[in-house]
Amino acid sequence: MPALATVTDTIAAISTPPGRGGIGIVRLSGPQAVSIAVQLVRLRHPPGHLDPIDHAHARLADVLDDDPARDEATRIDEALVTFFAAPNSYTAEDLVEIAAHGSPVVLQLLLRRALALGARLAEPGEFTQRAFLSGRLDLTQAEAVRDLIDAQTLTQARQAASQMGGALSHRVAPIKQSLVDLVALLEAGIDFAEDDLDVTPQQEIARRIAELTPPLAALEASFARGRIVHDGLTLAIVGRPNAGKSSLFNRLVERDRAIVTATPGTTRDLVTERISIGGIPIELVDTAGLREGPPKSLDGSPDGILEEAEQLGIHRSREALADAALVLIVLDATQPLNDEERRLLAAVAGRPAIVAVNKSDLVKSARSENLGPGEKTILGAPGPSHLGTGESSAAGPTGSQTPAERSMPPVVPTSALTGEGIPALREKILALATGGAAAEPGMLTNLRQHQAVTTTLAALADAATANAATIPHEMILLDLYRALWALDSLTGQTTPDDILNLIFSTFCIGK
Ligand code: GDP
Repeated sequence: MPALATVTDTIAAISTPPGRGGIGIVRLSGPQAVSIAVQLVRLRHPPGHLDPIDHAHARLADVLDDDPARDEATRIDEALVTFFAAPNSYTAEDLVEIAAHGSPVVLQLLLRRALALGARLAEPGEFTQRAFLSGRLDLTQAEAVRDLIDAQTLTQARQAASQMGGALSHRVAPIKQSLVDLVALLEAGIDFAEDDLDVTPQQEIARRIAELTPPLAALEASFARGRIVHDGLTLAIVGRPNAGKSSLFNRLVERDRAIVTATPGTTRDLVTERISIGGIPIELVDTAGLREGPPKSLDGSPDGILEEAEQLGIHRSREALADAALVLIVLDATQPLNDEERRLLAAVAGRPAIVAVNKSDLVKSARSENLGPGEKTILGAPGPSHLGTGESSAAGPTGSQTPAERSMPPVVPTSALTGEGIPALREKILALATGGAAAEPGMLTNLRQHQAVTTTLAALADAATANAATIPHEMILLDLYRALWALDSLTGQTTPDDILNLIFSTFCIGK
């Protein structure tokens, strides 16, 4: 994509999604936007006059056909044409939007004619890139435009809207100012050093660097929550066949998606569905039952070797289990723990996991009879959970817990049949997903932003070390400039063109 200096062309694109719709919009931006647009349409009122076309006023117009069989251009559609004069437009250039009916053929005709009249087909995100290059949006705001469009939950949209409004940029601005002040102070000191004037004392530099660190560290920490809202996470549902994984999956999805049958081992492939809990997108993965050895038929008799398809399903389940950020282990409350489940519990120790003891409707009293003494605690007595939400934890009260027990996941009794315990399960999933990190304005939401902040922090740490070692200020300044450069890359001021192009290429066409 061209850099700012070469932006003299006019770009055009269909800005509405592909397919038929009530309205479809063709957008033109650049110096020729108006001169091209007025050849695509015949503005009404006053008839026959192309000008004036006022800023931000919608004008009714006829969309013109270019049928070569006719001498005069005939109308093929009606449209509303809105002109936004530079610099008061989305791109800060002259911009025209032609809102016709959402007929793909009419929109294609408009676009084809615009290109024939000298416009260039816009690259993905190029309208927003122009807004960025003109300085109307910084990079965090431009990214937020994409995030808003891509949002799958209202919480994501709200986070994007806040960033689009400059929440992150505003948070960074005072930090940058302090950094610039420090650089200026050292630069001045160097200039005057030869004149035997006082240079900035070492303690003063140390103090100023130390002051910069906490707000940057807080910003860096905001990524924990920001990323989860932005990206969501995956929750793998694992457990023995027939424990009720698919039934719980359907309860969480709130509709029948996974196949539920009474025959163990029927979910042979991974079934995934995206849900939103507390506005956080969570990809649920219903796995095949994790089991080893021959399956049993319902009457308990061995059924021969595991089928190949089921083997594959189990293999995929293990992969899903390894990849998922969160694990939901489903136990059958009517059954004692088996070796596979014990191994599973041991395997997730220390990982974010929840145990759902399902079929709670069937066992109110029976369950304790089925379990050995050590296992009673898995299903049993309420105790403090490691999340501090006061629900039962996998092990008993903290006082009597071994370290291994303390790292056991929290336990939620559920009944996929009656729905009992499902709200508690959702709450637990949400608590685990956010890890207790609170939402705040101006969170970092992507890896690029996070890297900018960690690089800034690292450069500042180097500056502090250099200062402590009474290294000349010229050298400290190198670290400080590195910090400044990284911080500026957050808002895009120092982001190289190829990176910018990469970022904008993730946008949709016409935005
Ligand atoms: P999966 O193999 O772990 O996915 O288990 P399914 O979800 O297919 O359920 C296996 C059987 O247990 C089905 O007959 C379900 O109707 C039944 N089931 C699942 N959850 C519950 C529950 O909470 N209570 C009762 N009573 N039955 C359940």
